[in-house]
Amino acid sequence: MAFQNALEQNDLAEVKQIIVDCEIVCPVSGSKNWTDVRQFNLMFSTSMGAVSEESNIIYLRPETAQGIFVNFLNVQKTGRMKIPFGIAQTGKAFRNEIVARQFIFRMREFEQMEMQFFVKPGTEMEWYNKWKATRLNWHKALGISSDKYRFHDHMKLAHYANAACDIEFEFPFGFKELEGIHSRTDFDLKSHEKFSGKKLQYFDSEDNENYVPYVIETSIGLDRMFLAIMANSLVEETLEDGSTRTVLRIPSPLAPIKVAVLPLLKKDGLPEKARQIMDTLKLDFMCFYEEKDAIGKRYRRQDAIGTPFCITIDHQTLEDNTVTLRQRDSMEQQRQNVDELSKIISQEVDIKNLLKKLM
Ligand code: ATP
Repeated sequence: MAFQNALEQNDLAEVKQIIVDCEIVCPVSGSKNWTDVRQFNLMFSTSMGAVSEESNIIYLRPETAQGIFVNFLNVQKTGRMKIPFGIAQTGKAFRNEIVARQFIFRMREFEQMEMQFFVKPGTEMEWYNKWKATRLNWHKALGISSDKYRFHDHMKLAHYANAACDIEFEFPFGFKELEGIHSRTDFDLKSHEKFSGKKLQYFDSEDNENYVPYVIETSIGLDRMFLAIMANSLVEETLEDGSTRTVLRIPSPLAPIKVAVLPLLKKDGLPEKARQIMDTLKLDFMCFYEEKDAIGKRYRRQDAIGTPFCITIDHQTLEDNTVTLRQRDSMEQQRQNVDELSKIISQEVDIKNLLKKLM
């Protein structure tokens, strides 16, 4: 309690005194020889202006959210939006992290994907809970085991929030925050109103009243999500015959290459037929063409970069227009007519199928 009070009052000398009085020991070195408690600078500053004496100190943004708040009325008016609605954006954020490590988990320059969802005051808890559920469902829709995710509800709230939680993911180094969901009240819009002297209010034509909306924020690091997907997808598999394969079991809608087109041999008109098939498929999917090496080796290379489908063109293709369609995860091979390929592939790789799971 005393510790919490000291933190809330920003009384850093008192924080140090409590640490000393409680004889808290460093878990790494075993030492009790603490430095004074210091406030770290979490924002990067730089200067703007041609001549250094006349320049202004400016700060790199530590979150993308504020651009959305400043533009809230522009978007609402020009888009003729009615509350509730959201504005989402992705962009760089910068934090002077004291310990930037664990590969791309914590960086000083990173990419955030944030959404600010504007709601009528008093309805924010309903929307907060809705977004909690929707965001967790989004992660689950990717097909990663649901026991890899959990909520962590915040007890100590930031000054602008009236509810907050994280969606945590089980990284190889333990459960850690992947995404934050915050009920930010009207703090940001009101602060912009106060310091700019410009109203940021919404006229609700149904209730015939003006108000400053409340905001639910969802905020996820693009890099952190990339790390979560990669860490979960890259596996070394032992096959029935005892051999091993490296396979990137990345969700198919996220795979960078969807289809590999592979003529079995580099002769007998197979490459020409393969090119023909590729020319049709490449209009819909990111495809990769390869003739080099034995077919088994080519399959393995595609497994390792997460390509969901391989198509093999052989002599039979020239006779009956069928190919071998091989699936990455099951390694199952089926004979399919060329005209059916587009439909079968899009059923698996189309992002629409993933989004439909959220409806
Ligand atoms: P943490 O507790 O890990 O420092 P945070 O609570 O400061 O994160 P938020 O301010 O909620 O994070 O930021 C939203 C999201 O941005 C986080 O869930 C995370 O995915 C991402 N993020 C935050 N800081 C970093 C960073 N230094 N490097 C990469 N991603 C980050």
